[in-house]
Amino acid sequence: MRWQGDIRGIYTARHGYRLLTSASIHTDPQLHFVEWQKLWKLPVPLKVKNFLWRCMRNILQVREMLKARHVWERGGCLFCLSNMETMDHLFCSCPIKAQVWHDFTILHNDSLVLLLNGALCSPSVKGAIHVAAKLWLLWNARNDVVWKGKLLRITDLLSQAAWLSDLWFSTYTRGVADTDVAPTAASWTPSPPHRLKCNVDAAVFEDSAGFGLVVKDHARVFVSAYNARLGCGRDLYLVEAMVVREALSWLMSNGYTDFILEPDSLNFCSSFNSCLLDLSYVGLLVEQCHCIANDIGNVFVHHVRRSVNRVAHVLAWAIGSSSVLGSWVSVPPTCIAHLVSY
Ligand SMILES: [Zn+2]
Repeated sequence: MRWQGDIRGIYTARHGYRLLTSASIHTDPQLHFVEWQKLWKLPVPLKVKNFLWRCMRNILQVREMLKARHVWERGGCLFCLSNMETMDHLFCSCPIKAQVWHDFTILHNDSLVLLLNGALCSPSVKGAIHVAAKLWLLWNARNDVVWKGKLLRITDLLSQAAWLSDLWFSTYTRGVADTDVAPTAASWTPSPPHRLKCNVDAAVFEDSAGFGLVVKDHARVFVSAYNARLGCGRDLYLVEAMVVREALSWLMSNGYTDFILEPDSLNFCSSFNSCLLDLSYVGLLVEQCHCIANDIGNVFVHHVRRSVNRVAHVLAWAIGSSSVLGSWVSVPPTCIAHLVSY
């Protein structure tokens, strides 16, 4: 028995949650929030993300929600004469909020879902933060009226929103440009003294697959390289696991006993370094890799970004483009000569 939603075939509550939420999302994308990943990546404090999440799950405790649950029976909007305090009214359609969104062009149909979907999809991170700050301050202003009898001043709210969005932007994006937050570039780091490092990568062609591996020492000096074809299908995860098994076999047969292996397959590295069962079809290959690694001695498997794994990537793809095949010791093949010293 295996769970199809997970690459290792293991069921977790997170997978169940994803399945259930995606099932409800896909019923009507116009009415349901879809930008969950962007919401959780938004550079704002966690309490604000939690607040936005409660809004989009429709569980924020506005008065209509409290009425439906028989917690609160009286009253409507605190700012106008409307007898309904829904989230859409509170944040979007209440007349007093027109002043809050006066500088905004993404307010569609008085729908909070469309407002937030639009803000998160806009190319400007700062714009999305600004929307989040205004929603957060509106909710706090509403609670101040309820609990402290303190009335909202729109001018104060607007200046606070500007100040907060600047603060969150500088704190949570670490000063990157005002576009989507990109990960910082990584570079290849050498192994500790007396230990080698082997970068390995797969290449999947139309009719076959292949791989390349490059071994270097702690001083970034080229030691050896190897590439070969693999007779297997085009399933990338399967190929990546087979590539590591072939790489380990080649390293063992060439007498390497202490090294760090660096593939860029996060799935494989997670599975290899996890103590959880892998019930998928790749689990058997991962187990074989464990056995070979144990026979070798000191083997560490560590994930690297694809950009860092470029030398192995080029050697793997060289199989298809220029029929470079074989193994090299001390002197690298021409196709990667310009990359080995980095
Ligand atoms: Zn109102």
